[in-house]
Amino acid sequence: MHNLPLYLDYAATTPVDPRVLEAMLPYFTEHFGNAASTTHIHGEIARKAVENGRQQVAGLINARPEEIIFTSGSTESINMALKGLFWANSGKRRHIITVKTEHKAVLDTCAWLEEIGAEVTYLDVDEEGIINWDQYEKALEDDPMLVSVMHANNETGVIQEISKISKMAHEYGALFFTDATQSFGKVPIDVLQENIDMLCFSAHKIYGPKGIGGLYLKKGIKLVPLVHGGGHQWGGRAGTLNVPGIVGLGEAALIAKVEMYDHYKTVKKIKDNFEKQLNGGGQIKINGKLNQRSPYILNFQLLKSSPDQFILNNRRFLAVSNGSACNSEVMEISHVLKAMGLFKNSSIRVSFIPNEVYIRNYSTFLTNDQDRSSI
Ligand code: PLP
Repeated sequence: MHNLPLYLDYAATTPVDPRVLEAMLPYFTEHFGNAASTTHIHGEIARKAVENGRQQVAGLINARPEEIIFTSGSTESINMALKGLFWANSGKRRHIITVKTEHKAVLDTCAWLEEIGAEVTYLDVDEEGIINWDQYEKALEDDPMLVSVMHANNETGVIQEISKISKMAHEYGALFFTDATQSFGKVPIDVLQENIDMLCFSAHKIYGPKGIGGLYLKKGIKLVPLVHGGGHQWGGRAGTLNVPGIVGLGEAALIAKVEMYDHYKTVKKIKDNFEKQLNGGGQIKINGKLNQRSPYILNFQLLKSSPDQFILNNRRFLAVSNGSACNSEVMEISHVLKAMGLFKNSSIRVSFIPNEVYIRNYSTFLTNDQDRSSI
């Protein structure tokens, strides 16, 4: 561990909380049963663990347990929601409204749906990353089936006003889906109060394991399933349930519910401190609307050096991202920053967890652009 660089890329993924791991471990070994086995106690133990996980997840967002469908994570949940609703609606409304700054999981799914007949409006954002309201109002007049707008942006942390957006969608008879991958368990979400019809989340962003997540699907909404076979999860998503993963996701959700406010305060302190140090030195310009951002993510331009060079020079010491981590193998201009009118790929994303260890002076790393690779 000692030789690994300082990790400030928690929006890409988080480590598993030891409490989560402890809760999961028995479900790999002694409680290894299949939750679909109805003829013996092993199946029953697994099934109870799954139902407990469902309740824990539902409790975090004020949903009902039967409105949670477990999947392999947000990418699958997004595909399930968008394709499933389109297929269920075929022949009727085929217009989807989304935003240019969505995660690729949404944008690529929309592009695929366009190939099979969907009409998609990709809303612009302003230079602060906020959706163009005029365009939105106009697009709503064109019989939308679905409005898909993410909650917290994974590159900039910009938070969209999802309550207002969903209310407007409903006025025009559309359903509302939000990609809450970066806000689930980090900022409060109430699916009822915020009029959310579908919402996706992933365990690995909140100290749970990778490969497990889910879709909140409001009671009464019909989707054509993405995965057929076996009738699991009320026919919504077939396949043997990942019991240890679900236990881990549930435990992570439970911990988030209890600790969210404290975490938020600590992370905000870390982020503000970080931002102040860098701003003080005139080293950075922050991307994204100042008072409408998640404190877990900070995206900024380095005014005095190139970010790609900086990341290369410092990669033995500092693990940060030059944009969306999912794309970071490809050094291409971020579609999010491009949509905000920031044409040069000149930004760095740091993302935090509420660990007091991080309240230190990091500005030396970020302002000192020398090549330390020979040290
Ligand atoms: N949506 C957003 C906003 C994300 O940040 C990510 C992952 O980084 C995803 C979707 C995809 O999530 P998963 O890794 O669970 O498929």
